[in-house]
Order: sequence, then C-alpha cells, then structure tokens
Amino acid sequence: MKDKIQEKFQTLFGEGGEVFASAGRINLIGEHTDYNGGYVFPGAIDKGIMAKIKLNGEKKVRAFSLDYDEYCEFGLNEEDKPEQAWARYIFGVCRETIKRGGKVEGFDTVFAGDVPLGAGLSSSAALESTFAYALNSLFNNNIDKFELARIGQSTEHNYCGVMCGIMDQFASIFGKAGSLIRLNCKTMEYKYFPFDPKGYKLVLIDSCVKHELASSAYNKRRASCENAAAAIRKNHPDVEFLSDAKRLWLEEVRDEIPEEDFLRAEYVIGEVQRVLDVCDALERGDYETVGEMMYQTHFGMSRLYEVSCEELDFLNKLARRCDVTGSRVMGGGFGGCTINLVKEELYDAFIKTAVEEFTAKFGHAPKVYDVVISDGARKVE
Ligand code: ADP
Ligand code: MG
Repeated sequence: MKDKIQEKFQTLFGEGGEVFASAGRINLIGEHTDYNGGYVFPGAIDKGIMAKIKLNGEKKVRAFSLDYDEYCEFGLNEEDKPEQAWARYIFGVCRETIKRGGKVEGFDTVFAGDVPLGAGLSSSAALESTFAYALNSLFNNNIDKFELARIGQSTEHNYCGVMCGIMDQFASIFGKAGSLIRLNCKTMEYKYFPFDPKGYKLVLIDSCVKHELASSAYNKRRASCENAAAAIRKNHPDVEFLSDAKRLWLEEVRDEIPEEDFLRAEYVIGEVQRVLDVCDALERGDYETVGEMMYQTHFGMSRLYEVSCEELDFLNKLARRCDVTGSRVMGGGFGGCTINLVKEELYDAFIKTAVEEFTAKFGHAPKVYDVVISDGARKVE
C-alpha cells in the first residue's frame, strides 16, 4: 500500500511530503451500552488508511484516492464542499479543525486503505482520524486527542449525514498495539487493558446481510431503556442512565414496566457488568473467561435485546459447535459481523465449516477478516 501511495504521489505532486496512518476498529464487548452511559471496549486494528501529505502553499486541497482511482480538488471554505463522498470526509476534517481554531491551509495528498467498507470496522473513522491527526501535526495545532476524535465525529454529523457516537473515532485515535481501551461513555474516562491473546486469533465473519429493521428497532430499544431507567429513578434518584442501575433495582420495578422494557434493561445492565468482568479477566490473561462473556453477550443480544437475526445466530451456534472460545454479534445487530476469539489450532476447521455451512444455508458466502489489535493514528514517516 505504501509503495503504491509513494509512486502515485511522486507522479502527481513530486518530491517531499509526510506519511500518516490510522486504523479501523473492533469492539470486543460492550454493545448498546454507549447511549445508556455504560462502557464500550474497542481497539484499533491492523487495517486502516494511509496518506501521504505535503503542504502546497495554496488555499486548496488536491486529493487523490487510490482505491477509487479518483482525483478531487476543493477549497477550505464552507461553500467548497466537494461532490465525491470520500472527499467530504477530508473536507469535513479540515472544516472541523478550522472551526476549533486550528490552522489548515492547502495540501496535496494521495491516500489508500484496506478497511473493508461498511463491514462494521469503521473505515470512515480510519479516514477521518488519519487526516485529523495529520493536520494537527502538520500545522502544529496542538489540539488534544479527544478533540481530534470529536473532529472525526463532527465530520460524520455535519458533512456525511451519519449521526454516530464517539467510539469509532476514539478507538482510531487512541488505539495502541496490544491494548483495548475501556471507555466510560458517561464520563469519557478511559483505561487501557492488555490484549495479547497468544495462541488465539481474532476473526470476523461478515454475514454480508443488513436487515432493514435496524433504525426503527434502534429507536425502540432506546425508548425501552429510557423507560426502565425512569422507573428505577423513582426509587433511586441518582440513576441518570440505565448503566447506573443495579440488577436488583431493576427487579424492584419489574411489575411497573412492560416485560419488553424489562428484558431490554436486563441485557444492558448485564452487559455493563460483562465489560468489567472481561477487563478483570484480561488482567489475569484469562481468555477463556473473555470468550464465555462474549457468548453471554450474544445470548443477551439475541434473546433479551432482540437485535440478532437468523444469519448471526447461525454463525454463533456454529462457532460453539467448532469449540471457538468466544463469539458474538459485533455492532448494532440485524446483520453485519460476528467477532470470534478462536484457538489457532481450531481456526482452519472453524473457517472452513463456517464458509461451507453458511453458504449452503443462505446462498452466499460470508467474508472472513482476521484482525490484530494494532496502533491507531500515527505518523509513519
Ligand atoms: P464504515 O462502516 O466502513 O465506516 P461508512 O459507510 O461509514 O462505512 O464509510 C465508508 C465510506 O468512507 C466510503 O463510502 C468512502 O466514502 C470512505 N472511505 C472509506 N475507506 C476509504 C478508502 N480506502 N478510500 C476512499 N474512501 C474511503
Ligand atoms: Mg462509518
């Protein structure tokens, strides 16, 4: 990837320039916890975006996307928003940096990536983080890392029409090889935990389906959580978010809320605890417990929160049968990937079985992505 970028850059823009990169992300555990003020537990992966960048002394950006084989030129004012979707991510990062008082002037860039698009690995956050980090460095803006993540998030909100949370950009900016990061979505406090599963592989199996229910179901889940939290708050006024509640406090209001809301809340409260349990297990290097928690999350997402689907339940069951250590749906649900922690010696058999049986049942092959927890945003050279 780097050689291709260097070569194209040389052809289009000549000598000089600096190389920056950032990464896509996984979330090991902690799903549907963000809007409940709970924990998420992401890490950056060995798939990302790389960009070579050189200041051009003008008031415009000249960008070439190797993967789209497309060139785009745009100014730095609000009205200069480019046509191409990929260029809007770069433009948005420039604008959001400027809005925060940062300096941004014209630059030339060639970039490429290897995060599969739309697979739940956040290629868009990798793209934003690469440029947010790079511009901060090139123009000595001294914007702190949290704000760099927010620049990416605001880019999605204001220039790409995606109302995302902060997790993806946070992971992409803060990610470190051999570490996952537990982020408290209420206080924004974070802590690194060791993740170096020797003898295991982390692999995603992409069902390549996206069921349409996702957005209306998401709103309904949020409403259920808020309803349960409100009922608990009557007894325990300090409960701001559902994640603040103890399991027992939910039990106290069982008869006051619809059963559906109870089940949703049961999942969320359990999930917040599972993140903490996984962190404890990682400090002991106990990957078997980590795996068991992943299965419990899948069960909760499938039976209590009801955001799984036939394809994902199939992959989860199959993982159990192949003695995979941990497996669960990753992301919001209704399609996308499962994330699997599997012993190296079982890996080949698992992948073979998953691909064969999934294809036979659903008529299309799943995609398989190995991931290694790696560094996030950084200067390469
Ligand atoms: P994801 O879940 O992978 O973040 P999104 O739809 O949010 O999916 O973002 C994908 C978009 O990000 C692409 O349509 C493209 O505009 C941009 N993008 C991601 N990776 C690249 C890349 N390697 N080159 C150019 N644009 C990219
Ligand atoms: Mg995205």
